[in-house]
Formats: sequence, C-alpha cells, structure tokens
Amino acid sequence: MEAPPYKICFDNILGRHLVATHSIDCGTVILEEPPLVRGPFFHTYAVCLACGKILTEASSRPCSKCGWPLCDENCEKSPNHQPECILTVARGNKISIKNFGVSNPNYQFVTILRALYLKQAAPEMWEKLMQLQPHPIDVNIAPPSFIRKLFKLDDWSEDKIKKVAEILTINGHELPIARSPQLAVYDKTSLLEHCCQANCTKTFTNEGHVLVIAARQIEENEHLSICYTDPLWGVENRRLHLHQTKHFWCSCSRCEDPSEMGTNINSIRCPNESCSGFVLPKTFLQEIKIWNCDSCDAVFSNDNISLLLGKIGAEVSEMPKEDAAACKQFIKKYDKVLAATHFYMIDVKMALSHMLSSENYEELSYNDLKLLFKTTEELKMVAETIAPAERRLLGLILYRLAKTKIEMARRDDDEGKFRSVLAESRNDFCEARLFLANEPTVLPEGRVCLKIGLELKLIDDLLTKK
Ligand SMILES: [Zn+2]
Ligand SMILES: [Zn+2]
Ligand SMILES: [Zn+2]
Ligand SMILES: [Zn+2]
Repeated sequence: MEAPPYKICFDNILGRHLVATHSIDCGTVILEEPPLVRGPFFHTYAVCLACGKILTEASSRPCSKCGWPLCDENCEKSPNHQPECILTVARGNKISIKNFGVSNPNYQFVTILRALYLKQAAPEMWEKLMQLQPHPIDVNIAPPSFIRKLFKLDDWSEDKIKKVAEILTINGHELPIARSPQLAVYDKTSLLEHCCQANCTKTFTNEGHVLVIAARQIEENEHLSICYTDPLWGVENRRLHLHQTKHFWCSCSRCEDPSEMGTNINSIRCPNESCSGFVLPKTFLQEIKIWNCDSCDAVFSNDNISLLLGKIGAEVSEMPKEDAAACKQFIKKYDKVLAATHFYMIDVKMALSHMLSSENYEELSYNDLKLLFKTTEELKMVAETIAPAERRLLGLILYRLAKTKIEMARRDDDEGKFRSVLAESRNDFCEARLFLANEPTVLPEGRVCLKIGLELKLIDDLLTKK
C-alpha cells in the first residue's frame, strides 16, 4: 500500500495533529476511514437503532430480546444494533420506549454503550478511541452514575464512562447519510486541526466512511485542517460557536482580518448618503468600541451597530426561508445597509439561490434568472475566497451558474452566442463534477454529480449538430 501523504505530529499546544509529508494536489483523497463508533446523537427522537429511521409507535416493534424499538425483523438482526442489544439483555430487563416524536432521554445511552462495547468486541478500536482528546462537557446528559446503575455496568468506573461521553462529544462528527443524522467518531480525522479557511474538506461514503480531501494545493509540512464551524458565518458568530462547542477562541489569519480577505462578510455600508465606504472595527479579536468607515473617516459606536445587527439577525431567523418573495424583500430592504456579501445577506441569498434553482430553469421569469445568476456569482466569490473547502457548495454553485447561463442564452435567440455559452458552460460543468466527484449518491450533491454527466452529453450532442 502506498504511504499516506501525512504524518502524525505532536506538540504541547495542538496535541496530536496531521502534517503533510509532501505536496498534495487539490482534490486528492488524503485519507479514508470507517468510524470507530457511530450511533444516535444524545438528544434524539426515537429512531431505529439499525437503520436510523425515525420511528412512530405504529411503524415500529420492540426488539424481541432487548425491547429497543426497531423497524422490523431485518433491523433486529442488523449488526449495528448488537452492542446495545447485548448490553441491555445483560442488565436483565428490557427497555421500554413509550414516547415517540419527542426527544427521548433513553437514547443518550446508546452511543455510549456502543463505545463501551468496543472494549470487548474490538479492543484495537477501543484503544484508538481512548487516545482521543476528552473535554469536560456541559451538554445536558445524565450523570455517569445513572447509566452505570441503569445498565448494571459494574465492571466500569464512573470516570471511564464519563471519559467516553466526553470523547464522543468533542470528537463527534455529524454523519448525514443515515435516515436521521448520526454521531460518528473517527480516528485520524479527529486529529485534523481547525482553521476558518481550512485546506481540507470532509465528506462521507454511502457506507459512512469519512473521506478527507485536499481543498487546494497543500505544500510539504503544512498542517492539515478542516473547519469545525460554519465557514460562511461572520467572524463573531464563528468564534463564539467554536468557543461554546470546542472550547477555544480562534485567532486564525481569517479571524484576524476584519474584512475577511476583502469579502466584506462582516461589513456594513456607511450610512453617510454621499459615501460608498464600508464600516468595520479595526479588529474582532479584542473588545470592540468603535467601527470606522474605510472611506470618509466617520466613526460609529459598537453599541449602535450591535443593536442594528441584532435587529436584522432576529429578522433573518424569523423569516420563512422557503418563501422566495420574503427573501427578495429582505435583500431589497437591506441593500443600502449591509454589504451585498454580508453574512446575513449570504444566508438569505443562499436560501433564494437554492429555491430558484430547484425550479425548472425554463419556467423561471427573466428577472428571476438574472437574480439567480447575480446571487450565485456573489456566493461563488465568497466561497472561493474564504471557504475553498466548501466543495459541495462550490460544485452546486458552478452547476447553477452553468444552467442559468445556458437558459439565458437560449432565450436570446442568437445561435452563435448560444454555442459559445454552451462551450463555456461545458467547462463549468466539468469543474462542478470535480468538486462533487466524491459525494455519496444518498446525498443531493451526489445526485447532481450524476446529472452533470447527462448535461455534458446533451451539450456535446448540441455542439456536434450543425
Ligand atoms: Zn430500521
Ligand atoms: Zn435488541
Ligand atoms: Zn478563525
Ligand atoms: Zn463613509
């Protein structure tokens, strides 16, 4: 087997981390690995412990051995369900789930039980799990003494159970491929450090393996990173979220730059009528007192700006994102207040782009087509600049741009121009396909990737036709 293009290094600040051993081309699959453990999140509705389907009382039946509800006999036999089945049988009485459709506290034990079971079933995976970094958790779960007593885990100390829960919480990835999202912990992938402008991206196979892919050219000795938070959020929200979930304050080069590489995702428009400048504080890494216009030297108090942003934020979270008219109205209303690529605008434009592109392009009005093109171009600029690791998003964006351009050209009724747009869009489709090449077909992005094959064939037919 070929040697991996990375090595595991250690230092006192980062702990174990991954470093490139030679240069890695963009798009290379750097590592693929199955989860050490996977299972339901601590807080979830009643779900089938074999296939992840959300259950109702009518659509499920209790396991004949342990009582946990499952879809049917096939799911009862699934190896996924065996760890908690065996440990529940061992405690001497069945679990009884009565409440469906609400968060059910019994499920917080399942993934912990699966992790504990590794010690007997797969000791080498258990060792790997125990080597991951734990972190004190503040999520609302029952104390270790409770699960110890409930499942009669006499061989386990409370400390060990606590450590397992902490490792699962801090190292857990959301696995989106099952019928309901699951928590999955991986070995080497857990060693990837965070960067708000990460050089790697992760995706999953249909089987739940994680794939770590180079999101740009990576040089020898560079640290490999992924983004632990939403890379399209503004700096203050990202840092707060990282602090709440991962317990550190990020000060990467992207967080250090208030304009975020010139994308203006935190910028407000200068309220002075005659000025076209953008307003930002000098830094977001220290307490902010004032924001300055980059063009007319006007100064604004942070209190006033926080108030304004709080009001707009509340409006964004309350607006119906599946309502195109509401999105258009928001964009119009704040066009003179926020930068076109401010993170609130990006949020709404993303929803709008998604909605418009889910319709048949041939049925969109010309204004909607133009709007789709403009918002998608803005999203492309932002994603390419600050979030090159968002390969799923970039693939969808390029696909939408190509489809929009072709439809606009088709309506122009100019054969020569139409053919040149087709040729140009062919390149966009090919690039989109590269971005989406590793997406599993259970996800919409994987299916778009399949569709691109058909689009390319259509274009080739049209271009060879005289
Ligand atoms: Zn099932
Ligand atoms: Zn069972
Ligand atoms: Zn950062
Ligand atoms: Zn100004």
